Amino acid sequence: MSFQVTILGCSSATPTIDRNPTAQYLTIQDRHFLIDCGEGTQMQLRKFKIKFNKISHVFISHLHGDHYFGLMGFLSSLHLLGRTTEMHLHCPEALKEILELQFKHSDTRLRYPLIYHFTNTLNGELIFEDDVLTVETVVLNHRVPCTGFIFREKPKPLSVIKEKIAFYKIKPSEILKIKNGADFVTEDGQIIENKFLTHPPANLRSYAFCSDTTYLESVIEAVKNVDLLYHEATFMHNLKERATETYHSTCKEAGMIAQKANVKQLIIGHYSARYGDLNPLLQEAQQEFANTLLAKEGTVYSVE
Ligand SMILES: [Zn+2]
Repeated sequence: MSFQVTILGCSSATPTIDRNPTAQYLTIQDRHFLIDCGEGTQMQLRKFKIKFNKISHVFISHLHGDHYFGLMGFLSSLHLLGRTTEMHLHCPEALKEILELQFKHSDTRLRYPLIYHFTNTLNGELIFEDDVLTVETVVLNHRVPCTGFIFREKPKPLSVIKEKIAFYKIKPSEILKIKNGADFVTEDGQIIENKFLTHPPANLRSYAFCSDTTYLESVIEAVKNVDLLYHEATFMHNLKERATETYHSTCKEAGMIAQKANVKQLIIGHYSARYGDLNPLLQEAQQEFANTLLAKEGTVYSVE
C-alpha cells in the first residue's frame, strides 16, 4: 500500500522560473492529502497528473502567502468541476475570514461542504484519526503562528499463521483475539505466545512535515524516529543571521534536527530564490545527516 509524498513546490517567499512555492501531495494507502497550497498549486497538480478531486483534506501550516495563496483557486476549481463531497481544511483560524471574504465578493456558493478544523498553534495535538492513520501537529517557531504535521500509520490487526491455527484447532472467536495481540491458552492450560501464532507486524510508516521555523529543539522530540522528515532549509549556514531574522532554518540546522531525531531520511526544501545551484545546500545538510535528499518538484518520495 502506498505511502508517497510528491513535491509540488519547494521555493520560499517568491516563485522562481523553475520552483513553485510550498505544496505537497501526500497519499497514504488510499487517502489523499494536500499539505500547504502555494500559488500555482493547481497547475502543478495538473502538470503531474494528480486527480485533485480525490483530495479530502488540506493542511495549511501558516498564513504566509507562499504557503496558501493557491488555496482560493484550488477550492474554486473544485467547485467549478462539480465537486459535491466534503473538503476538510486544517488551518489557522484566520484563514476562514480570508477565504469567506473572497467567496462573498465573488458570489461563490460552494457546491461542496468546506469544513474547517482550526489548528492550535500553542500546543501540538492529534487533529485527525481514521482506521489507518493519525495526524498530529507540531508547533514551530516562525514570525506568525505555524504548525508542522506528522502523519503516522496505525497498527493493523496481525495476520495469523494458518497452519498453527489448524494445528491447535483454534476457534474463530479466539482468532480475533490473537489478531489483536492475545496469546492462546490450550485446553490443558499451555500458553502459546502470540508471536508463534502470527506473522511479524508490518512496519508502521511515518512522515513529518516541518515548514517554516527556526531551529527548534522541541521538534527533535516530536519527530523522533519518523521514517521521512521534510524540514525547511531556506538558507545556507553562512546566512545564519538572515535565517534568524526571518525565523527560518539553515541546511546545517535541518541536518542537525534529522540527526538528533534519528529519522531514517531527510528531505530539505523551501529554498531561498537566491540559490540557483542547490548542490551546496544538499552537501551542507549531508555533513550533519548523510541520508538527505533535495526536494525537487514532481519527484515522488516513497516511505518504505
Ligand atoms: Zn513563512
